[in-house]
Amino acid sequence: MVTATDGKEQRGAAKRFDWRGFDAYLFDIDGTLLHTRDGVHYESFLAAMEQLYGRKVGLEGIAVQGRTDPIILLDALEQAGICEAEGRRLLSAAISHMCAQVEARAHELRPELCEGVTKLLTELKRMGKLLGVTTGNVERIGWAKLKAAGIGEYFCFGSFSDRNETRIEIFRWGAEEARRRLGANAKVCFMGDTPADVAAAKACGFPVIAVATGIFPAEELAKGEPDMCIPDCETLWSYAR
Ligand SMILES: [Mg+2]
Repeated sequence: MVTATDGKEQRGAAKRFDWRGFDAYLFDIDGTLLHTRDGVHYESFLAAMEQLYGRKVGLEGIAVQGRTDPIILLDALEQAGICEAEGRRLLSAAISHMCAQVEARAHELRPELCEGVTKLLTELKRMGKLLGVTTGNVERIGWAKLKAAGIGEYFCFGSFSDRNETRIEIFRWGAEEARRRLGANAKVCFMGDTPADVAAAKACGFPVIAVATGIFPAEELAKGEPDMCIPDCETLWSYAR
């Protein structure tokens, strides 16, 4: 594993992991590409729970980092006294409601790109790499954030939580889609900001670069033994080929 806190450590080890050598790069969205502090996505959960399940509840105490929208919603409902079976009965309607909410308020989205993201996406695209997103967001919300951030056009496809509910399934489908597009031997690499991203990529048997631009510090991410662990995307360029 390559771990860097300032981009200058372990250059020798970095040479053994050629981060430039992949055909496809699959990015988590929140905390990896961007941060949204506008509350639009968050409030869409609350609106859906009130509209579909008649519960005026929040997400207090519900883990959201590294988790997927349907699972967050079901957890919040359970905390509000709604069993999983009942939660699932209206799940697709609730997800649709969330998407409609976010799209109606898209002008309020204020995504902030993480350090070095634009340069990395631009360079990878210039190098002819296939770029995709693999995220716990549902599809319409994921694209709304990417579009609001001005980076939607870098990505050819996405693997979202309305197709697959768990992060491992989302990552596996994303890698398979990359190989459907590029061929069965295409080399795929994931990038993510949470231990869940690292674990999911490894469970699927793919390399993963952990980037500490979310809430998890590099030391915490390193415990999951990603192939590379860096403070932000900009740091990648400090590693010679
Ligand atoms: Mg994330």
